[in-house]
Amino acid sequence: MKHITRKATRHISQNEGLIFEKSSPGKAAYKLPPLDVPEVDVAALLGKAERKDLGNMPEVSEIEIIRHFTRLSTWNYAIDLGMYPLGSCTMKYNPRVNEAVARVEGLANGHPYQPEKISQGALRIMQTLSDCLLEITGMDAITLQPAAGAQGELTGLLMVRAYHQSKGNPRKKVLIPDSAHGTNPATAATVGYAVENLKSNSRGMVEISALEAQMNEDVAALMLTNPNTLGVFEEEIHKIAALMHAKGGLLYMDGANMNALVGKVRPGDFGVDVMHLNLHKTFSTPHGGGGPGSGPVAVKQILEPFLPTPILVKHSDDTLGFEYNRPQSVGRVRAFYGNFGMFVRALAYIFANGPDGLRQTTEDAVLNANYIRKGLEGVYDLPYSTPSMHEVVFSDKIQARKGVKTMDMAKRLIDYGFHPYTTAFPLIVSGALMIEPTESEPKEELDLFIEAMKSIAEEVEEDPEFVLGAPYNSRISRLDETMAARKPVLRWKPEPKA
Ligand SMILES: *Cc1c(COP(=O)(O)O)cnc(C)c1O
Repeated sequence: MKHITRKATRHISQNEGLIFEKSSPGKAAYKLPPLDVPEVDVAALLGKAERKDLGNMPEVSEIEIIRHFTRLSTWNYAIDLGMYPLGSCTMKYNPRVNEAVARVEGLANGHPYQPEKISQGALRIMQTLSDCLLEITGMDAITLQPAAGAQGELTGLLMVRAYHQSKGNPRKKVLIPDSAHGTNPATAATVGYAVENLKSNSRGMVEISALEAQMNEDVAALMLTNPNTLGVFEEEIHKIAALMHAKGGLLYMDGANMNALVGKVRPGDFGVDVMHLNLHKTFSTPHGGGGPGSGPVAVKQILEPFLPTPILVKHSDDTLGFEYNRPQSVGRVRAFYGNFGMFVRALAYIFANGPDGLRQTTEDAVLNANYIRKGLEGVYDLPYSTPSMHEVVFSDKIQARKGVKTMDMAKRLIDYGFHPYTTAFPLIVSGALMIEPTESEPKEELDLFIEAMKSIAEEVEEDPEFVLGAPYNSRISRLDETMAARKPVLRWKPEPKA
């Protein structure tokens, strides 16, 4: 098992990808039927817009083009191929029933410009989803408009700002724990707030005395993730909320980790004033390149006047429609009403599971994370011994002695057929291995993953250099991460002719 030798199989051969190089003049993948309508004068019709030279478009046969695209589709890793333990991202399986429902013709072909009168079914789906999400979160009102978690954060903080503004002072600062996801400080800064870092304690939670010291009438809100990005539930959440409210501040909850709470506890019951949900995480709509996402924002009554326009209302004749006349609203945050296809999928998921199923999902997600924790404790360093919820965060402390870091082991994991875990955060864990299996994974897959991680730890002890060179088995070897992000090469370019 140890040294996986590099083999140029069909799938990973470089040249297989280059459809241009299979081109030869006259080959075609289609044949049009004989013309049975009057011929038009294309040149007269298009004038200067007519394109006579098609550049170097490849000319290939049907089987070549089919193989080309089918092969490309196999170069991606996907949740449909195996476990995707990317911590914080909740890469759970997207049940096919969601897709079947989203493709129902009347839903898939609906248009946002359709009159309300003939959109009642679509509106009812939005209303029902809103009701379900409010029941799950314990909040009072909701907007489905934002297209992602980060946009939900932006929407939520714009509302926080509008709320304080309506009281005469928008305030200056937002408190954010040092364990937070990077989008939180980015959001606060975008809305014009100064970000103040809140230090976590040795258990990985908000230190109450630090919050007491930093909370004052300049602070607009605390942005808190619960469970936080260490996978740890903030046990003193009631106290945290009370401290915020005593000084007129609001509690924003980043709800990206709701996979650990659904059916168990409700943020609305533990003092949260505003939160976003990631339908593409907790409620199993596709994401990670397969998007689009959806980040509804739920609020308590005090923030309801500030929701983005339009809001969904029931007219006096009992039909559903949109209300635009909302003088205190933060305005529209997205075209139309949000990513409707995601609403359909999320609602299908909620209905297919029912309350008991959703609760079971939460329990299984926590069980799976703890199964991995038990399996790898001792093999990898566990910087916080506080109980894990839906994800477990190890560090590379043991392996770093041999010069091998979390990123190196993440690359090696690719050779074992798994998507890497999260390496970049939480920032308070140096060399983090953030692992979130989700409830979708069967025990057999978890066992395989644990085996792979143990095997990598052994490789680090025996031959650290070897691990540093990973991955060996992927189509592309190790990239320059900085260049890949800053100067991505997104198009194939022909070799210059010699
Ligand atoms: C995923 C995530 C976000 C951002 O959500 P996007 O939909 O990717 O914008 C914010 N906070 C946490 C904790 C997350 O895991």
